[in-house]
Amino acid sequence: MKSTIVVFGMPGVGKGTRLSNFLDGRETDYELMSVGNMLRAARAAGTELGLKAASYMDQGLLVPGEIVNGVVLEGMKNAEKNLITDGFPRTIEQATAMLEADIVPAVVIELVAPKDVVLDRALNRIVCKKCGEAYTLNDYRPPKVEGICDKCGGEVGRRKDDEEETVLERFAVYETDTLPLLKVLEEAGVEICTIDTTADDVDAQFEALMLKYS
Ligand SMILES: [Zn+2]
Repeated sequence: MKSTIVVFGMPGVGKGTRLSNFLDGRETDYELMSVGNMLRAARAAGTELGLKAASYMDQGLLVPGEIVNGVVLEGMKNAEKNLITDGFPRTIEQATAMLEADIVPAVVIELVAPKDVVLDRALNRIVCKKCGEAYTLNDYRPPKVEGICDKCGGEVGRRKDDEEETVLERFAVYETDTLPLLKVLEEAGVEICTIDTTADDVDAQFEALMLKYS
């Protein structure tokens, strides 16, 4: 029996790193859910929803949300590997539809970190606007000349994404959007496990949960 594992992460906690560290070398047993791949697979398999979606895609139109959701649920049901979802469900409607289709995640893993740590990291991160080289201020890896990239001479500064206001806004959106979803899943009996990504053994904790629930 294959499992569905839902991963949520507060913005800036390093979810992508955890996922790629875990998935590295495990591609035969685990798959990271991709809506694009599911749409292509449904089309190739010629399912009713897949063909409907294809008719929109071929005209260069956006596939309507309900068709996408249908394809995703179908893809989740037919998954041949343990499926890890990142960013699905995103809404209460999607969560409810998933549960109604009898797709009950084995676990929800929520990656969190103290907000001040994430904010501090963002505020101390500066990048070259030309070549993307990253520098940090708090652990003393600033560019040799203030504001100038060591590598290419480009302008170094904070990304808009890392401005305090933007970071705080992302936290707020996460709380209003994701926390109610967790509640819906929890009420359906899904176990919610939380990992603090500032722990030294964060990858080991993540791996242990993944293996336990798959
Ligand atoms: Zn540069």
